[in-house]
Amino acid sequence: MLFAFPELEFFSLTLQKEFRGVRRREGILLAGPSGWGEFSPFPNYAPIEDSLWLRAALESAFVPIEFPQNSSVAVNAIIGDNEDPYLGSARALNEFGCTTIKIKVGLDVDQDVERVQEIVRAFVEAGQLNKLLIRLDANGRWGIEQAINTIAELQSVPIEYIEQPCRSATQLRKLRKKLTVPIAVDETIRTDGQYQVSEFADLAIIKVSPLGGIDAVERLIEKLDVPVRFSSALESSVGLSSSLLAAHKFAPDQVAGLGTGMLLATDTVKQSAIPHGGRIRVAKCEPDPEQLARVPLSKTQQDLWRKRLAQAWQLIPESQLASWGVPKWSVQG
Ligand SMILES: [Mg+2]
Repeated sequence: MLFAFPELEFFSLTLQKEFRGVRRREGILLAGPSGWGEFSPFPNYAPIEDSLWLRAALESAFVPIEFPQNSSVAVNAIIGDNEDPYLGSARALNEFGCTTIKIKVGLDVDQDVERVQEIVRAFVEAGQLNKLLIRLDANGRWGIEQAINTIAELQSVPIEYIEQPCRSATQLRKLRKKLTVPIAVDETIRTDGQYQVSEFADLAIIKVSPLGGIDAVERLIEKLDVPVRFSSALESSVGLSSSLLAAHKFAPDQVAGLGTGMLLATDTVKQSAIPHGGRIRVAKCEPDPEQLARVPLSKTQQDLWRKRLAQAWQLIPESQLASWGVPKWSVQG
């Protein structure tokens, strides 16, 4: 299959530290009349999931969506499995002004508790404990008992919510009867496609790129029966700009999980979408040629990504492409 698109840029970014098994973020930036879009689905994604991500990228490149003037979104910082929570929180607070900290949990009870306490220690030492809010994300790795035991140990800690403590709706339902801490669902929405969640969750996490873009997310929010919080999928700043816009549109007063730019060691743009004073400016991002030259993707990987893009493309209905004004000649197969 031959794939021709007016303008494609490939990138391979390095993360500061391995994050959930990921060390690099690769992908394609594509240009259209409305700017740039980012296609950077994770390596384990199936073509149908890739196609949702491509919808988000094409929407960003082809659909004119107005960005607000001088607006910003409050964001949380994030501490990965391989990051020292004390140092990570101190950096989040001092360098980026973030007082909401999200941390990945799901190890054993003692380790999870100890890591969360390290965040508290950083804020106590900085004299900022009264501002701290912690979000725990277990990615479904806790059992009911482990969740209860961990939360019991963390009673004095300001926990805002636990994200996907357990994997199944049945587990979540049981857990919710025993906990007072709010529960947010992420995988339940994104992977299981379940939207009536109020019986077992208080909040839903929305990720713009994997869910198919801003328009798709708007329709999804209408179907949900709980409030939402926005979060990133570890995109480069080009992808993050769509998520920031969506967060600004649909959850302007909430702290979004969009501070992931601080996990990147390299980026596709000159001015990365990272927080200043705990907030990130909402603005359309353009890739910078100099930056792109620093993050090249090997020829072999480019071919693989081209194939992946073409495969995802074929799963998007022609009527949808036409409605966005995406030229037909883009794919020749
Ligand atoms: Mg999550």
